[in-house]
This record gives sequence, C-alpha cells and structure tokens, in this order.
Amino acid sequence: MRYISTRGKIAPIGFKDAVMMGLATDGGLLLPERIPTVSREELAVWQELPYRELAFRIISLFATDIPEADLKRLVDRSYDSFEHREITPVVREDGVYILELFHGPTLAFKDVALQLLGNLFEYLLKERGQRMNIVGATSGDTGSAAICGVRGKENINIFILHPHGKTSPIQARQMTTVLDANVHNIAVEGTFDDCQNIVKALFSDLSFKEKYALGAVNSINWARVLAQVVYYFYAWFRVADAGGANMVFSVPTGNFGDIFAGYVAKRMGFPIKRLLLATNENNILTRFINDGDYSVDQVRQTVSPSMDIQVASNFERYLYYLFDENPGRVRDAFSQLAAAGRIDFTPQELARVREEFASRSVNQVETLETIATFREKTGYLLDPHTAVGVRAALECAGPDETLICLATAHPAKFGDAVERATGIAPPFPPALAGIEKLPTRCEVMAADLAKIRAFIEGKAR
Ligand SMILES: *Cc1c(COP(=O)(O)O)cnc(C)c1O
Repeated sequence: MRYISTRGKIAPIGFKDAVMMGLATDGGLLLPERIPTVSREELAVWQELPYRELAFRIISLFATDIPEADLKRLVDRSYDSFEHREITPVVREDGVYILELFHGPTLAFKDVALQLLGNLFEYLLKERGQRMNIVGATSGDTGSAAICGVRGKENINIFILHPHGKTSPIQARQMTTVLDANVHNIAVEGTFDDCQNIVKALFSDLSFKEKYALGAVNSINWARVLAQVVYYFYAWFRVADAGGANMVFSVPTGNFGDIFAGYVAKRMGFPIKRLLLATNENNILTRFINDGDYSVDQVRQTVSPSMDIQVASNFERYLYYLFDENPGRVRDAFSQLAAAGRIDFTPQELARVREEFASRSVNQVETLETIATFREKTGYLLDPHTAVGVRAALECAGPDETLICLATAHPAKFGDAVERATGIAPPFPPALAGIEKLPTRCEVMAADLAKIRAFIEGKAR
C-alpha cells in the first residue's frame, strides 16, 4: 500500500514513511493510493473478532510494509493500557447506543490512536537508528494523549503547544504533571488555531523540519486516522449483534479526524447509512454541509473545548475525495481559502456532501440541557463533547435509524461543565486520582513563531 498527497506533489511512499512524514512535504495530507474494500465474507469473519484482532486485521491492510508478527505485537501492546476488556465497549441508553472511547490512560478517544502511534514511532526509530522531535498543537486532549503515548521513550522528545487557560483545568494538569525529561509543554497566549498555525509553519519550513527530525502527532498523521477506523467496525458489529440496522454514527467534531475515520470505513464498503457531524458554536463544518458556506469565523470558547476549532485540518482529506481525487482542485481550493478566507463549491459537490453527511450545531445551553436530561432519564453522565453528538443525533434521527453516538471523553475530564449541568461532580476514575496535588512543569509563551522555534531549538536533541 502506497501513500500520496492530497496536493499531488510528492512521489508515492510506503506506510512507514507516511507515518514518519506526518504532513506531506508539499503541504498536503497523506492518503492511501487506494482504499481497500472489504467483502461481505470478510465482514462476517471480522464480526466475531475481539478488538485487538480486528484492529490488527484492518491496520495490516494499510501497513503492508511492517512484518505481520511485528504489527501484531505493536497493536496488542497499544491496547494493554486500556481499562476495559473490550477496549471500546458499546452501551445502550434511552434507545441510543453509546460507543465509549474513553477507557484509555488519558480518558479521551485520542488514546486509541496515540498509544499505537507512540509504539509505531518507537519501532520505526529503532529500526532506522534515528531520533525524533515531536511537535504538536492541542486544544486539550491530543496533548495529554500524545504525551502519554511517548513519555519516557528514549529516542523521542515531545513539544506540545496548548492555548493557555483555554483547556479544562484537568486537561492542563494531565499534560503538565508529566515530568519526564523528554516532555515539554508550551502554554501559548492565544487560541488553538494560533497553536496549530505555529506548528504548521514549523513543519512547512523544510530545513528546520529536517534538521530537527520533526514528527507529527496531531490528526494530520495518517496512522491516527487509521487506528480510529477500527472502532467504527467494532461498534457496528456490536450493534448489529443486538439487531440494529440503518446505522447512523454521530460524531462530535473538531479537526474532522474522527469523522474522517468513519468516512474511510464507509469507503471500505462498510454499510454505514450516514455520518452525522455534530459541532458546537464553532460550526463552520455545519454551515458547509447544510448551506455550502465554508467561511472562516472567529474561534469561540465553549464547554466542549476540544471542538473549539475553525479550520479543521483533516477536512482536506475529505475534499480530495469530494473533488474526485483531483489534487489540482485541492490546491486551488486552499489558495482561495488563504486569499479570501473561504472555499466555493459547485452545486453538484454540495449535493454529494449531503448524501454522505448530515450536520447539526449544538450550542452551549443545549449541550448542558442534554447532559441534565440524559442523566435524569438514564442515570448516565455524558461529557459535554459527547452531549453535543447525542443532542445532534436525537434531533436528526429518522424513524428507522439506529443511532450510535461516539463518547469521546470521560465526564470527569470535563467535570466543571457536568457539575454545572447536573449538580453532580463526576467521580474521578483511578487515572485522575490525586492529579490536583502533583507538581507541574510548563513554559508560558507568546504566540510568536520565532520565539517558540528558538525554544524548541534549545531543547531538541
Ligand atoms: C479531539 C476531540 C474531539 C474532536 O475530534 P476531531 O477528530 O478533532 O474531530 C471531540 N471530543 C473530544 C473529547 C476530543 O478530545
């Protein structure tokens, strides 16, 4: 399996090189040359598999340059850190299925991908006799999951930029309480988009990228999307086992990584009826799907901070398919976005978008209300991100549809919002015990590319 860029200006590369490259060197995003399809017979076999085995089967279709025995070991090890024996269990509450993705070490779905990515990096660096400096931007959850994926690994340094004071207090502490020498937290005085722009600028400076062997962990890394494809299959099988049909996945969306994994599962021939893209007040993708309006607005702070994003980096991957795999059209679209702050689409393109996706934007009042009513009805506590998805699903559901809502974080991770909605502070799971009292290490810096570059140069090995 070879990988190409959405901008069409790199020679095809293998999976291992794609993982190491992160962002494509032509500024685009990497995608498999062709997405493999799965037959009905294979699906029937996969339906019986436990999570780790299913993950191995799916990932091996895309990672053909890693020997199977090695890949199997990497996948198995990556899910040992999960608290639940099923890794991503599905529960049923009030007629909707909740796909619990928060049983990993940092209590958000990002662990599913980043535990694997940390192990892949370690494996590939050892094989190549190389070191790597990971640089990433986070609105909260990516950072802690990435840090947890690589902490203490010898050949890796990690630099994580987060918007100062704009993550939840627990999210900040999950990052800054990790004191391993290879972990560097930078609190940027700005928004998540400022952080992401600085990281993008560092990666597009090719001599800097090469000199410091920069590696990416944000969802521009293909391996992350790939790891997330697995749980769409896993959940579909569990709901099918329970007799569900016409399945609609509701996905609380920020950077479009998680929902893009669902789109890949669909393109693999998987019978997902529709993907429901749920946003908070940062609703550019909802405006795009419902009204064809893709114009960048100000970032607004909400109770679901991991979705406080305007320019979703993985959206480019979808555009590549929407534009019939024509990289010239992708380049034109992003030139227009840079020049005018928006992208225009044809009516035919928009019609296709609406066949594949539905979308709803859920505001803060509705989110808190949903946490409260869901708790009253079922006793189940939703985190605010998950609540956005549940609300969108309940509003959009067709009568014959089965709803599967992705639960992207544990409620205790956003305990303030949950307490505001319900009056109940969600109890801390063992992973968070005592975290308020632990010592921290973090650098607060202005949103200044040159200063942050100099800081990284000083610490990089
Ligand atoms: C990252 C995150 C999201 C958004 O996922 P994307 O892949 O960026 O669309 C939603 N909820 C939580 C809890 C997250 O951490």
